Amino acid sequence: MFETSYIELSQSALSTNYAFLRRLVGEKVEISSVVKGNAYGHGIENFVPLAQACGIKHFSVFSADEAYKVWQVAEKNTDIMIMGMIANSEIEWAIQHKVQLYIFDLSRLEMALILAKKLNKKVYLHLELETGMNRLGLLEKELPKVFALLDKYCGFFALEGICTHYAGAESIANYVRIKQQIITYKKRIHAFQNQGKSYLLPKRYHTACSAAAISYPQTQMDLVRIGILQYGFFPTQETLIQYFKNNKTHQDPLKRVLSWKSQIMSIKEVEAGEFVGYGTSFLASRQMRIAIVPVGYAQGYSRSLSNQGRVLIRGERLAVIGVVNMNLMLIDLEKLDSAEIGDEVVLIGKQKDKEITVASFGELSNQLNYELLTRLPAYIPRKVVL
Ligand SMILES: *Cc1c(COP(=O)(O)O)cnc(C)c1O
Repeated sequence: MFETSYIELSQSALSTNYAFLRRLVGEKVEISSVVKGNAYGHGIENFVPLAQACGIKHFSVFSADEAYKVWQVAEKNTDIMIMGMIANSEIEWAIQHKVQLYIFDLSRLEMALILAKKLNKKVYLHLELETGMNRLGLLEKELPKVFALLDKYCGFFALEGICTHYAGAESIANYVRIKQQIITYKKRIHAFQNQGKSYLLPKRYHTACSAAAISYPQTQMDLVRIGILQYGFFPTQETLIQYFKNNKTHQDPLKRVLSWKSQIMSIKEVEAGEFVGYGTSFLASRQMRIAIVPVGYAQGYSRSLSNQGRVLIRGERLAVIGVVNMNLMLIDLEKLDSAEIGDEVVLIGKQKDKEITVASFGELSNQLNYELLTRLPAYIPRKVVL
């Protein structure tokens, strides 16, 4: 069967983005490719092999089911790190497969250590420290218990990382809070070092997401957890401007990896004065030719793009008219008399010299890049192109 739209992933764009990231962090820092949210909508199964072809050996996910998907398609000895949820019943699987876990509270730490001892194996731990985001992470007052537990189960864990996450490094409005988090993190890692135990010294210190890696280079440390940048987007306009300023450039160094395409399903002529589609949201002010495209909000094309969105057909930028339906949208063909059923429709990406960017979408409908991408359903087929 055919889906009504498809997604293309550009191998060359991805390799451009990794080359940029390598320049950004230097040779010594590990780049962990963050592929939660179905690889930000790019598709884990398709994206992970592409990233590996570019030399990526470390992946970060949110949950155990995503780790399993990465594990299925990754090369042997690939590092897989779960930054969020894992059920107690899944921890054994993680230990058996050397999948690394974030530890964000004492009960999780104890459970992981007990299971590792039971299996007579090591659990690969990343201790997540609470430094000011007030979401997940071990508190300062819990550290003595952390040290005691690790002492008790010495030999049944490897400390892969000590980490934290910043509360909004993509916005200068959070500058003071982020700076304070950096200071707090440093204090906490000194507490580990002051114990004088080699098993409390992690393989890697890591704190940076995309925005922190750009705007606070001192947060890069031993490993950076990079999501949005690798897919070709800056986290926010602010981060992009900061990059321009720091590098005295006006050239976006990234390329979008993803394009989203469909085709014209039918064409309709409408007389002036007729309402088009459901209800009264669009009134034809002239005689119009309208293309019907088989993509709607069920496929992740937001209803808030009703009467707002733009698509490309035959290299022309054309308007979405009326409300976006569950599975259909209507396009004003304007001067495009030549358009025919079956013509390619670009929803995101390039056609001839024009481009529909995810950012332009975001501005039209108030969806962040992140949200729009991750809403793209997993069932839309992904194809790799050069
Ligand atoms: C999602 C996430 C990242 C990556 O964020 P980007 O802004 O996409 O780079 C890094 N660290 C943690 C803990 C995350 O949850």
